[in-house]
Amino acid sequence: MAVRQINSVNPATEEVIAQFTPHAPAAVDAAVERASLAARKWRTVPVPERAEHLKRAAALLRADRDRLAALITEEMGKPIAEAEAEVDKSAWCCEYYALQGPELLMHQPVATGATRSHVAFDPLGLVLAVMPWNYPLWQVFRFAPPALLAGNGAVLKHASNVPRCALAIADIWDRAGCPPGLFTTLLVGPDAVPDLIADPRIHAVTLTGSTEVGAAVAAMAAHHLKPQVLELGGSDPFIVLADADVPAAAAAAVSARMHNTGQSCISAKRFIVEETVVEEFTDAFAAGVAALAMGDPFRRDVTIGPLARSGLRSDLVDQVERSTAAGARVVTGGTVPDGPGYFYVPAVLDQVTPAMAVAAEETFGPVAAVVSAKDPAQAVDIANATEFGLGAALWTTDLERADRLIPGIEAGAVFVNGIVASDPRLPFGGIKRSGYGRELGAFGLRQFTNVKSVWIG
Ligand code: NAP
Repeated sequence: MAVRQINSVNPATEEVIAQFTPHAPAAVDAAVERASLAARKWRTVPVPERAEHLKRAAALLRADRDRLAALITEEMGKPIAEAEAEVDKSAWCCEYYALQGPELLMHQPVATGATRSHVAFDPLGLVLAVMPWNYPLWQVFRFAPPALLAGNGAVLKHASNVPRCALAIADIWDRAGCPPGLFTTLLVGPDAVPDLIADPRIHAVTLTGSTEVGAAVAAMAAHHLKPQVLELGGSDPFIVLADADVPAAAAAAVSARMHNTGQSCISAKRFIVEETVVEEFTDAFAAGVAALAMGDPFRRDVTIGPLARSGLRSDLVDQVERSTAAGARVVTGGTVPDGPGYFYVPAVLDQVTPAMAVAAEETFGPVAAVVSAKDPAQAVDIANATEFGLGAALWTTDLERADRLIPGIEAGAVFVNGIVASDPRLPFGGIKRSGYGRELGAFGLRQFTNVKSVWIG
């Protein structure tokens, strides 16, 4: 049987930029062995010294910003300024953990009857990271600096459409002076994942991706009793109450939904608006969306690129068709332009009800669903009427009411009068079918550690 090639395709032109032959099983085995040896060496390196490697990785990212950003835009199509911001954020995460991480990993003394007792944070070993293409650098750098600082090694199986980004990431860690292979990229398809999870040299698994794949990987990891973090799909609500600054909310909504051409797990996807302001909000929101410039993502005036893969576009077309057939109205966009590239004109749909496809399913692209609610309580009920629970935004000028509503919102993060975003200082993750475990912050740093109780009599 012919081996399926791993192709790097420019989604703006549909041209194949590069082709790779997947690593054969023997090469995978050798790479895992090398990573395993490197991880055993790395765990003996003092934490402050590990932090120096993170600083070097940050410096390399910053020095290589232009090349890396171009690579991202070429492989998955996001506007170039967003790709540059992604490189900057990856560097920031390395710097944040280099500075703040060592203290968070220090022994925590606990008073017991012992002469001395404390909690230590030991590394788990080698972590398999299965990652998606939507933030090809950031998704990996959200995981790697804390995991490496904690003394672990990493084996990356990146999404098949971003192989050059995947290779560039491993190159950064090698050049940062980590033991060779401590961070290893494998160019393999999904079929290689079960054996990797089963491999005794792999101690934990982290997956960022769809809920379906997350459930399959979770079952495999559970079978082998390996700890795991699952960062999965989302259908974040963006609640606008009648007392909100509606123009500000509508302006933020454009970016919350359309950033990264709508391909973000924490994009606001369902806009749940109190009925007295729904018309005002929808008009302003749709005008903002219609004003976005779509085209060649290397052009500085372009804010909407192509979707990363053709299947993403056909999925969106299908979700919008099913929703309009059920009574939703397209306010703007929603068409497929002629010509090459996986472009889709950003769309706003209103008169959406929670059961329609654009509200009930995750829409992974530039499609916004506006749902009307009669009051704040119903808005929260609609927000929670989803299988997902990643992020949520709430827009109101009444912060006391916000405080009362926040505990009832089923999400891993709630942002009031702001756009949901990941931040190295705050834990990131979901509940319900958006996954479990946390990345970032102190919680993310300790996720791949053995929290060891030490008792000395
Ligand atoms: P995906 O299809 O689930 O792929 C994610 C990764 O899993 C890729 O590396 C993929 O490899 C691999 N994979 C696919 N099928 C697999 C299988 N049967 N066994 C093991 N691995 C498998 O997701 P995607 O389309 O790339 O990304 C979009 C999804 O990710 C959305 O649902 C989005 O919400 C979610 N996401 C979540 C977060 C978060 O933090 N919660 C962040 C970003 C994205 P191949 O590419 O080789 O198929």
